[in-house]
Amino acid sequence: MLVNKAIKNYLDKHQVPCITPKAALIDMDGVLYDSMKNHVEAWYRTLIPMGIKCSKDEFYLYEGRTGNSTIKYLFDKQFNRQLTDEECTEIYAIKEKYFNELPEIAPMPGADRMLQRIIANGIRPVLVTGSGQGSLLDRLDHDYPDVFAPAYKVTAYDVKVGKPSPEPYLMGLSKARVNANEAIVIENAPLGVVAGVAAQVFTVAVNTGPIPAQALTEAGADLVYPSMPEFADQVDSLIESLRNTR
Ligand code: MG
Repeated sequence: MLVNKAIKNYLDKHQVPCITPKAALIDMDGVLYDSMKNHVEAWYRTLIPMGIKCSKDEFYLYEGRTGNSTIKYLFDKQFNRQLTDEECTEIYAIKEKYFNELPEIAPMPGADRMLQRIIANGIRPVLVTGSGQGSLLDRLDHDYPDVFAPAYKVTAYDVKVGKPSPEPYLMGLSKARVNANEAIVIENAPLGVVAGVAAQVFTVAVNTGPIPAQALTEAGADLVYPSMPEFADQVDSLIESLRNTR
């Protein structure tokens, strides 16, 4: 069975005897919110007038980086210019303005059910996002009430480096006070998967966007699910399989 094989591969690779999931480290954009289209559009509207040549699709591959890191990367690549943090903050404010002008973002279909299954299995949900998008962070408690306690949120305000560094997920482990083999990561983006794997956590990718599933496998995902509703259907059996490794 695919799940059992993925678990065995993880245990062999990390030389740990078992996975005992106590916390789920959960990404926000593309996992809890169907927000990537708006992010892409806002980036595009911000950067094209500044002379940055970019395609809309490439922003799906940058997903997970902090805003400043994306801006620095693109200006360095295109103009060989190293922007200061202040310059990045100004540009990010323009992106945030465009983002807020776009049609309201809906919660990801199936995400609520996924979270309820996580909680019903006695697993602590921890938010781990590189996002500093105030409009979405503020909506979390409204759209997902009583899911993410304040002490269990990692956002752009906490992280210095951002994904694909393991830093945000290591912070998530630390906030949940668990070891790597006592958690799972739930991601949708290749760079986020790289971050979860680098933190040595069993990393589940849910493919909610336009990228091929292969990009998530190649990033190192332990398991890839084709959509959020399908993952929500499988949460109970996945957790049971993980707990059976004890
Ligand atoms: Mg994401």
